[in-house]
Amino acid sequence: MKNHQHYMEIAILAAKEAKKEHGIAIGAVIVNETGDVIASSGSLAGPTSDPTAHAEVNCIRIAAENIDSPDLKSCTLYSTLESCHMCLSAAAWAKIPEIYFGAYKKDVSDRFFDIKGQYSSEDEARKMNLRDGETMHVQGGILERECAELLSE
Ligand SMILES: [Zn+2]
Repeated sequence: MKNHQHYMEIAILAAKEAKKEHGIAIGAVIVNETGDVIASSGSLAGPTSDPTAHAEVNCIRIAAENIDSPDLKSCTLYSTLESCHMCLSAAAWAKIPEIYFGAYKKDVSDRFFDIKGQYSSEDEARKMNLRDGETMHVQGGILERECAELLSE
């Protein structure tokens, strides 16, 4: 049983680090089947001028490179903020079956999202195709208040 709060705390550290480097305080980590953190990153869209450099996408790239495979089906993704459509899709392409996040879209400013109004990555995850007959499970609310506060300063 993975300790979700423990990994979220590491994602929060990545978010704080990213903010220091003129990024946005959003962080993510990817954990392998033995519980090792194999990727950690903040959102770097601003400093790298790459609008796709979200924390989750950065982690997927780092993790895939670390294990030398695009298949992350034994991994779990943690993110301080609910994943946008792009990151949810990137996780599906990487076959990541489980995502845990901190703050919900409703907890933060709309400017952090690509979609207007109501959005639930927990619901969207049920539609994602991991191509192995697997379903994606997404659950938010892990250290929700701490993760939301990162973006309220
Ligand atoms: Zn994203």
